[in-house]
Amino acid sequence: MMKAELVFVPAPGRGHLVSTVEFAKRLLNRDQRLSITVLVIRLPFGPVMDSSIGDSQIRFVYLPPVQPPPLDLISKSPEKYFSDLIESHKPHVRAAITDCVLSADRAGVSSNSVRLAGIVVDLFCSSMIDVANELGIPSYVFFTSGAAFLGLMLHLPTHHNQTGAEFNESDPDSIIPSYANPVPATALPSFVFNKDGYTSFLKHAMKFSETRGIIVNTFAELEPHALNSLLDGHAPPIYTAGPLLDLEGQKNLPRSDRDRIMNWLDGQPSLSVVLLCFGSMGTFDTTQLTEMAVGLERSGHRFLWSIRRRQPTMAVPEDVVDYEEVLPAGFLKRVDGRGMVCGWVPQVEVLAHEAVGGFVSHCGWNSILESLWFGVPVVTWPIYAEQQINAFEMVRELGLGVELRLDYRKQAHGDGGGDVDVVTAEDIERAVRCLMDGDNPVRKKVGEMAEKSRKAVADGGSSFTSIVRLVEDMLGNNP
Ligand code: UDP
Repeated sequence: MMKAELVFVPAPGRGHLVSTVEFAKRLLNRDQRLSITVLVIRLPFGPVMDSSIGDSQIRFVYLPPVQPPPLDLISKSPEKYFSDLIESHKPHVRAAITDCVLSADRAGVSSNSVRLAGIVVDLFCSSMIDVANELGIPSYVFFTSGAAFLGLMLHLPTHHNQTGAEFNESDPDSIIPSYANPVPATALPSFVFNKDGYTSFLKHAMKFSETRGIIVNTFAELEPHALNSLLDGHAPPIYTAGPLLDLEGQKNLPRSDRDRIMNWLDGQPSLSVVLLCFGSMGTFDTTQLTEMAVGLERSGHRFLWSIRRRQPTMAVPEDVVDYEEVLPAGFLKRVDGRGMVCGWVPQVEVLAHEAVGGFVSHCGWNSILESLWFGVPVVTWPIYAEQQINAFEMVRELGLGVELRLDYRKQAHGDGGGDVDVVTAEDIERAVRCLMDGDNPVRKKVGEMAEKSRKAVADGGSSFTSIVRLVEDMLGNNP
């Protein structure tokens, strides 16, 4: 049987690695002829790779470290820092790919019976498309965010032809084909206003057109407008593969922390608890935490609140040691029994719990897909990356989110100074009450989307079928 090897180059960072590994597992389950090697890029700070991400069927190859770009680039443009860091791994990626085939030879498998069928790169790793082209291997992009945001990226070359420059915060609403509504500048991601960040994304978007296809972690029923807009003949073929979720949960969290949270949830009434969690990098200063505490207390609702401490550079935030130090005096005592504060939460397991009825979220794409899968409506509180435009999509485009803010923004890793923009306790209280209102039509819509998301990945569903088509393409049945 002719075997086909795929080499994946994901971007470092939990939000990218989890869905990439889930996608790799889907492919392996689809066709026994496929084998997959994942090339792991290390960040100069933080763990190499979250120990909970892995799979015995997949080979992980850790690339040697490189000289990172100058640290001050992070505060200028984290996107450029990240893209440049990844690009400097090109020689290592080339060497690892060449080795991949050779090592199959060494293992006694004739390279004649293993074909390198493609390289699958993260959106931030588009520079590796050059490596694939040099080696004459087909390349695919694995896009860890949604189709609408992919449409925004693919619109950048058109924007650039028209204006020759990055966006401006005072620009009028933009017409972007992947959004049905005009998009206000306040909902655009920060990188489009920053020359370095904008140029990096423009470059990524232009490279995408050299690939055989773009695989998106979404499903047809969620983003019909955006997906239709991508059928205009300019984009390579689009494959919907989502939702790609790690439903087995977190094996990296200490058992006692996980049990403390889950046991507490077990004692709460059905659909009574609001989860507040802001992704792998979300943090707030004490002024903002105070507003949140007051808003939650006044809302009268039960809550599970993940609070973490900002770290210098791009390092992953740490858990807080003493919550009394960062929260208003007496707060923890007053909410005792109806509220719990914690660090990292096993988010998937929490969202799956019947006690959880709402989610105040930073609108990272994985969090959005997880909340939809479990039918838990979100309140939108975007912070960094493409979260503002995700929040806009959830509220304005799809009617699947309750608006708190669409325009809140800050860098996940700034100078550690105070947050300039503060979301008030009144706004938080209002949004939480609205979210937890059992008659809110958003709840019903989210419940319907939960069913659709499960159907999409089941046998014969839209994403299932799309992956079958992709595998055919990869195996060369459909050149
Ligand atoms: N996550 C978690 N516990 C936390 C924070 C995050 O399990 O306390 C998981 C969450 O379930 C999701 C991922 O980390 O799978 C975050 O990805 P997302 O795209 O939502 O946001 P990002 O971290 O990329 O900003």
